[in-house]
Order: sequence, then C-alpha cells, then structure tokens
Amino acid sequence: MDLAARARGFLILHEGADFCDDCLARALGVDAAQARETLTTLAKSPAILRDRWTCKFCRRSTLVSRAIANPTFALNRRSRTRLRRTA
Ligand SMILES: [Zn+2]
Repeated sequence: MDLAARARGFLILHEGADFCDDCLARALGVDAAQARETLTTLAKSPAILRDRWTCKFCRRSTLVSRAIANPTFALNRRSRTRLRRTA
C-alpha cells in the first residue's frame, strides 16, 4: 500500500479527528516532509479536510488533516448523525 492510501486509511479510521503533519508522520512511520506532501495531495479530495485546528495527539493549534465519513452528507449535520446511528 502506498503512503497516500495508508494516510487516507489512518484518517478514515480516526474519522472526525484532527492530526497535524508531525503526528501523522510519526503514526505512519515517515518523515514530516513526506507526510505534508502526501496530505496536501489528499486534501484535494472532498473526503479530506485540511485546516488550522487543534491536533488530537499533541494539542498544538496548527495545520491539521481530518477525514469526513461521507462527503455527500458532510454539509448536513442531521443526516450525518442519523447515518451514524444506523451504522
Ligand atoms: Zn500533532
């Protein structure tokens, strides 16, 4: 599996949680530059958000990445909640 697929998998596994590049790099066993490059590419997909927020691991407020479970429902919180409840 390539790094992009592993990074995407990690974010989806921790759906809705935010991770900075450094922590993701550590979790994936790569260096921060590699992680940043991969996540920048992933963030072009509507399923991955990249924004300034608090990292779940190190609690720093920095550029983080987050997976959205279902981009179609992401704009509608009620649908998303309903979806989760039946999952
Ligand atoms: Zn972090």
